Amino acid sequence: MTRRALALALILGVTILWAVPAAAQTRASKSLQIYVVDVEGGNATLIVSPTGESLLIDTGNPSNGRDADRIIAAARDAGLTQIDHLIITHYHGDHIGGLPELLPKFPIRHFIDHGPNSDPMGSGAKFEAVYKEMYAKAKHTVARPGARLPIGGLEVLVVTSNGDILPKPLPGAGQSNPHCARFKPSPNNLEDPMSVGVHITFGKFRTLHLGDLTRNKEFELMCPTNRLGTIDAILGVHHGQATSNSETIIHALRPRVAIMNNGTRKGGEPDTMQSLFSSPGLEDLWQIHFSLLSGQEYTVPGLFIANVADDRPAAMPVAPMAAPGAGAPPAPVHNGPAYWIKLVAEQDGTYTVTNARNGFSKRYEPAR
Ligand SMILES: [Zn+2]
Repeated sequence: MTRRALALALILGVTILWAVPAAAQTRASKSLQIYVVDVEGGNATLIVSPTGESLLIDTGNPSNGRDADRIIAAARDAGLTQIDHLIITHYHGDHIGGLPELLPKFPIRHFIDHGPNSDPMGSGAKFEAVYKEMYAKAKHTVARPGARLPIGGLEVLVVTSNGDILPKPLPGAGQSNPHCARFKPSPNNLEDPMSVGVHITFGKFRTLHLGDLTRNKEFELMCPTNRLGTIDAILGVHHGQATSNSETIIHALRPRVAIMNNGTRKGGEPDTMQSLFSSPGLEDLWQIHFSLLSGQEYTVPGLFIANVADDRPAAMPVAPMAAPGAGAPPAPVHNGPAYWIKLVAEQDGTYTVTNARNGFSKRYEPAR
């Protein structure tokens, strides 16, 4: 509006309505931004589209506001004042548990899940009733494989939900998967296999977040034909736990980068590390935490690890520690500052991953 037009409008007492785009609350950038937040072995992955719309995948643990505050710090870093879309991948405490602490501090407009909880004895069951009250006052969607989620500037496709999988391959995918032959099933709990999984495309960049989807479902999704094709980066990888991350899916997807949402004593298990390290084309594994379950034998260089243990032992054990079962002592508390790993992707397929702890950053050029 020119100064003259503004003066005229003021003289005439005209109400001036500035054109406000839908996602004006954010600093829109031309890139896709992804923050993998440290929620101590839970999941909270914040995706900000090039138009400034936001998608949060899970809310971390119940933790007296600790995980909620870490998510809000990432959201503020991205210039957000609300979460436009939230996916609760499944009803486990390390995914939905932080929600009652997050919502009073930061508005959420749209809730997406796989439908009702399938495990009344699971760690997230106690949050289901309060969750239903939350989404009753907002927009709510039950995710179905094959459906697109409405997020500006991105193609976000649901590929798994409530135990169902994408009915037909993505365009260009559908080749037979040579990694199916060596598949070994694993035991499941009731909720992990229900996880809402999404495939995200931005220009030439492709990424995938499958929540805590387990091996048996990985097989259904990827065998006998690979429904997803290849991707640039895989997010989460179920904390690096061995009940997921079979070679059947990892080696077929051929990610160049994996970002693992593990904890100090959760995930980073030898089976997963072997599957990732032997995956054709994998350049780097980035981890949210140093994991005692990796030991020196399996861990990545510290440059790629966002959070180390607060109480560091004098020497890092060489051998991996066995995953603690029920009744194990609690994991070491991480009370110090928490750091995220941030991925920024461009339309041409170039992307950069940065470790917020040490500032180490690496750029991945598109394959020619
Ligand atoms: Zn989990």
